[in-house]
Amino acid sequence: MPSETAIDLNNNPLTLWNGPLGLPDFSRIGSGDFGPVFDAALAGHAEEIDAIAGSADAPTIENTLAALELAGDPLDRVSAIFWCMAGTNTNDAIQATEREISPKMARHFSAISMNAKLFARIDDLYQRRASLGLDPETLRVLEKTWKRFVKAGAKLDEAGKKRLAAINEELASLGAKFGQNLLADERDWVLFLDETDLAGLPEFLRNAMAEAAEMRGQKGRYAVTLSRSIYEPFTTYSERRDLREKAFRAFIGRGETGGPTDNGQVVKDTLRLRAEKAKLVGYDSFADLKLDDTMAKTPPAVLELLGPVWRKAREKAAIDQAGLERLAAAEGSNNPLAAWDWRHYQEKLRAEKFAFDEAELKPYLQLERIIEACFDVAGRLFGLSFVEKKGIAAWHPDVRVFEVRNADGSYRGLFMADHFARPSKRSGAWMSALQSGYQLGKGSTPVIYNIMNFAKAAEGKPCLLSLDEAKTLFHEFGHALHGMLTDVTWPSVAGTSVPRDFVELPSQLYEHWLTVPEVLEKHALHYETGDPMPKQLLDKMLAASTFGAGFATVEFTASAMVDMAYHSRSDAPENPLAFEAQTLERIGMPDAIAMRHRTPHFQHIFSGDGYSAGYYSYLWSEVLDADAFAAFEETGDPFNPELAEKLRRHIYAAGGSADPEELYTAFRGKMPTPDAMLKKRGLLPMMAGEEL
Ligand SMILES: [Zn+2]
Repeated sequence: MPSETAIDLNNNPLTLWNGPLGLPDFSRIGSGDFGPVFDAALAGHAEEIDAIAGSADAPTIENTLAALELAGDPLDRVSAIFWCMAGTNTNDAIQATEREISPKMARHFSAISMNAKLFARIDDLYQRRASLGLDPETLRVLEKTWKRFVKAGAKLDEAGKKRLAAINEELASLGAKFGQNLLADERDWVLFLDETDLAGLPEFLRNAMAEAAEMRGQKGRYAVTLSRSIYEPFTTYSERRDLREKAFRAFIGRGETGGPTDNGQVVKDTLRLRAEKAKLVGYDSFADLKLDDTMAKTPPAVLELLGPVWRKAREKAAIDQAGLERLAAAEGSNNPLAAWDWRHYQEKLRAEKFAFDEAELKPYLQLERIIEACFDVAGRLFGLSFVEKKGIAAWHPDVRVFEVRNADGSYRGLFMADHFARPSKRSGAWMSALQSGYQLGKGSTPVIYNIMNFAKAAEGKPCLLSLDEAKTLFHEFGHALHGMLTDVTWPSVAGTSVPRDFVELPSQLYEHWLTVPEVLEKHALHYETGDPMPKQLLDKMLAASTFGAGFATVEFTASAMVDMAYHSRSDAPENPLAFEAQTLERIGMPDAIAMRHRTPHFQHIFSGDGYSAGYYSYLWSEVLDADAFAAFEETGDPFNPELAEKLRRHIYAAGGSADPEELYTAFRGKMPTPDAMLKKRGLLPMMAGEEL
């Protein structure tokens, strides 16, 4: 098929990267350039796929699997630059392209996974896989590719394919509807208060509530809304039990109003269609389908993790509850502790026990020094060194570029960092790649970037971070190391291309090194005096961090257990909310704590299926990172060289080249237990006589 556009992919700055250091030449890229290049790159990729699928030669790893992995290089390149700019430096032109390109991409990739001739070739290789003499990584890539096609319906007959497409479409619109209903409920509910109703509320909250009221046309009053950033502090600080209850009932009732925005039917239909979809592509339940390529693998394995965590969290919450009830009684309340009281009394106890101001830490956490700390730890663990390359044009003048080298001086790749907030950047922090590292074909070296949203300091002043921000820097840098240290053959298993419940291990684990005393002593220096951070300041802060873990773990784990209960059934419940209530009853949910997300507003699992049968992954990753760092602590050396080498080889360099369970066991010698995580959260058994 002749190309319909005049774009030459071999000579376009979006697809031919000939800027300094092998980067795209950003000085030649305009935000209106993407649309036609996308069209040409999509057409080019489709031609490559047709050539692979229509080959007259018998399928081989080379002419099918490798050809498929290497196809679409121009599409990868234009996408990498586009999504980077869409997140970090967007404008109207980019947003217009985004709306235009997203459905095109979805159609393009769905056509590939439904390509019967292409699947026949992959299936042929898959059926003969035992006799092909494949190395373990290639075998794994073949199996993963085959499964991906099967899950997308490649094995179904025409009627089956049609049904699957209809289910997917309906699920997508149910997911969108769920989110919109919730948004409407959150937007519509508001409780206006006056000056006399504000007992207990701190300044920052009064300001936020005043602004929220003004936005709703009630200047001079104060609004409680259902945004978590107002609801949570309000129920924490308000002295008015009646108002706390009102806000709580509205918050917990989102999506369950009985009116046109009620999510009851949406949930019921979603669960029914998910169960049908799972059966259609060959799984017993939707959880089996979703967990198939994770580290946990099966619903029972998830429950095995959640069970002990749940029991410990409940024990701790029960002890905490007694303490809170004593406090409430001392204030003259003779009500039993209710769900709208917990945060309130917990905060009072926290203020009493851990009077502590986070702002005291900030002068010791200079951005520039914490970046050095990130690099220093990577040097000590993995032998990496970083040299800044100045004056390289990137997607924004704030972006910094570093060349990364191995211990023997050989080239490893590039690391780019974009630290400061600006209106054209979306909020949050993340890691991504302009280019990933792999050996197949001509091979490719990684170009990895980190995005932050720190507030820029005034001219001539250092940028000071909160402890959370410093942790975020380490966290994203841990993901970046996963991308930079990758040492695999196949592109599809490079870097962070690992299961959902494994991908946060390299990042969360890296956070632990920030608070290693020798790292802080060297890098956490007061910006005026140069003095290291006092140890007792840090100890105080660390002690405060486990406070309230019983409550937090109970509300989280209950949601994870309900998620798993819904999705590990082979059918769908007739009445989801009754099923939720039965599940909570069965696991012994404390009356005074509510689920963190109840079914009618559980966006993680119903607004799209990103975290359906997957809410547990947050906890799973925490188990892994705590257990992995405990391995270093057990040796008495946070930089133990032997262990660091194992960590590099089996975790940071391995990408998705092997089963995560195998990788973890190769590093640690055994599978993780939740003990280290429970200890970190302060949930291991209380000592006799120890008080809250
Ligand atoms: Zn992360």
